[in-house]
Amino acid sequence: MSTFASFLDTQTADALDVLADFDREAALAAGIRPSHVDEWQLVRDTYFGTTTWTAQQRLAVEVVRSRKMSIDQLALIEKQLKKVKDPRQKWELRFELLGVSGRYETVRRKAKALIGEETKPARKQLRFSKTRNGRRTMTVTADERDLADLEHELLRGIDPSKAAAPQMLANFLRLMRSGNAGVPVAVPRPIVLVPLPAYSRIMAGDGDDIRLGLTDATTMTGAEFLQQCVSEELELAAVHPQEGPVNLYRAQRLANQKQRDLARVSSPVCPVPGCRHGADACEIHHITAWKNGGETNAANLAPLCRYHNRVNDDDPWRAKRGRIERARGTPRWRSPRGYLVPNDYHRYAAVDTLFGPRGPT
Ligand SMILES: [Zn+2]
Repeated sequence: MSTFASFLDTQTADALDVLADFDREAALAAGIRPSHVDEWQLVRDTYFGTTTWTAQQRLAVEVVRSRKMSIDQLALIEKQLKKVKDPRQKWELRFELLGVSGRYETVRRKAKALIGEETKPARKQLRFSKTRNGRRTMTVTADERDLADLEHELLRGIDPSKAAAPQMLANFLRLMRSGNAGVPVAVPRPIVLVPLPAYSRIMAGDGDDIRLGLTDATTMTGAEFLQQCVSEELELAAVHPQEGPVNLYRAQRLANQKQRDLARVSSPVCPVPGCRHGADACEIHHITAWKNGGETNAANLAPLCRYHNRVNDDDPWRAKRGRIERARGTPRWRSPRGYLVPNDYHRYAAVDTLFGPRGPT
């Protein structure tokens, strides 16, 4: 059998048996795309997970083995079945869909016909994306009346001979920044992390190619820093190569806020890989948990976004979702398998900007 044919078998004929001893962390560590891993997990949980429907589960495993459906088709079926709440109805629909022969699209069409589109209204929420090339995207889902009013307001006075969307954005920003109801520019004020060698170059007017990190997960060039920040109160962080930020020289600040600031400087974003939340929007996390005797000292504090603070393995022996540790003065995420992984999303932690992500040499 050719290599490709045997690869196909792992995705179809042997698919279920391949997933029987599925290992999520091993798959992620091997570089498999997380969305694939999620799908595999979904299929594994359905056919091998704990359930009260053991007879149906056993039968379904036999059906899949005899019908040789692909992992993708099985995952598709499970994703569609998420819309169905009643477990009995779910099993009936699952068996019906397992009986469909053909390509991926055939199963998709049949699932759509059987289960239909989601009838529940989308959840009301507002989300921000990661920064890409200096831009972010905001998505809002709200009652149609509220958004219709906003749209009407944003369309006011625009030039119909030009594209509407950019003009609506301009109107939106004007609205956002105007009057007392508007959004102030960056509050709390983010701290700019300026490595000392860079500082002297910036002051000499030579900072165009220097990129500085801010604690709200944005960046600015040395030149922008010179324009915007130098005339106001200067916020300067002293950074020790092993200990991380050791002192913050600022006038009239309470110790608590100072500790928060030190934590922000040690990691200007939530340290979990891929997380986009700036330290300014983070909670302050005890690296050694309070309940395990951890103290509220700068060296034991790290910014962690709300979500990652909830899922952090506060007990190191738990090793389920990974945990924050301190390595070379910087809060770092240690994976459940024991690897220290930096958050590449924003590489401007004070220690990193001074010495690079590998630390002082
Ligand atoms: Zn996070």
